[in-house]
Amino acid sequence: MIKSRQIKGRQLVLVVDDQEINRDTLEIILENDYEILYAENGAQALDIIRSHLKDLSIVMLDLIMPVMDGFTVLKYMQSHEEMKKIPVIVLTADKSAELKALQMGAADFITKPFDMHEVILARVSRIIELSEGRQLISAAEYDSLTQLYNHNFFHEYANRLFLYHPELHFDAVSINVEQFHSVNALHGREFGDMILRSLGREIRQFLSLTPGIASRYEGDHFDIYCDRQENYKALLNRFQKKVNELSPGVNIYLRMGIRPWADGVEPVVMFDCSRAACNMVRGDFQNPLMIYDEILHKRELFDQKLLNDITAAVQERQFQVFYQPKYNIKEDPPRLSSAEALIRWKHPELGMTFPGDFVPLFEGKGLIGIVDSYVWDVAAKQIVDWQNRYHFILPISVNLSRTNLLDPTLIDRLKKLVTDHGLDFKNIKLEVTESAYTENASLVIDVVEQLRDLGFEIEMDDFGTGYSSLNMLSRLPIDVLKLDMVFIRNIETSETDRRLVKLILDMAKYLDVPVVAEGVETEGQLDLLRRANCDLVQGYYFSRPLPPEEFEKLIIREIEIDRTKEKEKEKEKEKEKDTE
Ligand code: C2E
Ligand code: MG
Ligand code: MG
Repeated sequence: MIKSRQIKGRQLVLVVDDQEINRDTLEIILENDYEILYAENGAQALDIIRSHLKDLSIVMLDLIMPVMDGFTVLKYMQSHEEMKKIPVIVLTADKSAELKALQMGAADFITKPFDMHEVILARVSRIIELSEGRQLISAAEYDSLTQLYNHNFFHEYANRLFLYHPELHFDAVSINVEQFHSVNALHGREFGDMILRSLGREIRQFLSLTPGIASRYEGDHFDIYCDRQENYKALLNRFQKKVNELSPGVNIYLRMGIRPWADGVEPVVMFDCSRAACNMVRGDFQNPLMIYDEILHKRELFDQKLLNDITAAVQERQFQVFYQPKYNIKEDPPRLSSAEALIRWKHPELGMTFPGDFVPLFEGKGLIGIVDSYVWDVAAKQIVDWQNRYHFILPISVNLSRTNLLDPTLIDRLKKLVTDHGLDFKNIKLEVTESAYTENASLVIDVVEQLRDLGFEIEMDDFGTGYSSLNMLSRLPIDVLKLDMVFIRNIETSETDRRLVKLILDMAKYLDVPVVAEGVETEGQLDLLRRANCDLVQGYYFSRPLPPEEFEKLIIREIEIDRTKEKEKEKEKEKEKDTE
């Protein structure tokens, strides 16, 4: 029997349930706020929905019913343009059915038996609000391109699954297209859209067999909240294969990050981690998949700590500048020619921390300028100090980060540094990594040229790790080439590496650019480099980076060599006089 209680002017709710007790309970819960229609099975429900298409605000739908079950109703409603707009709350005692209902388009679910009446009332009103608001602002629940949930709805649903279904141990999976902006730029937006659409379709197909939900989040970013997969690599391959099929001859690569389920971790946090993991394999075509694990988690905490502590570190002078010598091996014995300033962080809790741990992090956060200004200042003072105490002028090179080069105040700051300390421009050398030249070529070249015009010497750091070809060197504003240590590592054992180093050295000689070989650790490497006509050497063979008080011993040794040489010269002179 169908009861109807309509009071004009209020929102209309259709309650569909074959059990009278359930209909009565919902009546008690809803009657003060809503008009209610009732149906005992799916067929009756569809009749009512059909005749109330315009004024029905919500359907509360039991799943298991005689004549026609709730799934059939849902399916029918989803296929119908107008019915689809009416939100459905599923009523069920069967937890596993809820997810399926959500996947089929239900907006929410309420578990039977009905307890917490206020909660049910609140959820009904929220869903109605959401759906009305949605129709007003036309922010669709689904992304129109991929038919996956849009971001807001996805997170709402993921949260509900998390809160109401602790038994579901879902993983967070993020997928991204490498260099999607280039794909769009090269092949057009239509093509880009086609790729996203097909990826969306493949994800939906995957979710038709695996419990889970998915969303497209900003452009080319997809999030999937799903049952744990045995083999994520296979899943990524499946999506990649689909993309390949659609774009023969065009290289489009996907990458994937996964945050496996962990007890009590909310979806928002899970997806932050899966996205971070996905970003970590950006550009890594060999390993496009990363599973967020404890190590990564620790790394994130570590990074966060370093970021929090940077201000205190500068104030409390926890940063220390070490110096590593560069020796001129053309002379016998090799002579100290300059030093490179290398930063260390003596962290009060973490101990001695090396630049590999914080320089790229600070570069990424735009904070490296703080560290670098500190290093420049300390290095400039150091030159003056050694000059005063030993009458020894040791040029020092400092590393310039790529981000520094894009800072419009850089030139003025460096100029001020030199003049404030009464230095000669040529005694502060600037190391600029090769990759900086290739990334923002014209801008970087322009800045570097201005610095050179002022009198700074420019050393191209880590040469060989970027992409500049040898013949580009002649056009770049550089005074010294620092050959990256990867070339040196195997020169004793690899004929190819030896030849490569020789080739670079010959080319540099032809261009009249001196070369510093980095990372020289053994006598054998030194010999080979000497024979190949290399000018300068930096590496553990001569010395590790040292704190200033230890570095002074190297200066003292140089002064002694000078003295001995002078004495020898005087002796020679006297000998000549005697023979005259
Ligand atoms: P880099 O400029 O190429 O510096 C050379 C790195 O190689 C230093 O590492 C040095 O300790 C290491 N090294 C030197 N000789 C040898 C050797 O014989 N064998 C081996 N295995 N390694 C050797 P470090 O000090 O850890 O610095 C790493 C990188 O961090 C530097 O590479 C530089 O790019 C960056 N960095 C260091 N200090 C600063 C700084 O003050 N500012 C900025 N922006 N970057 C810095
Ligand atoms: Mg360097
Ligand atoms: Mg280097």
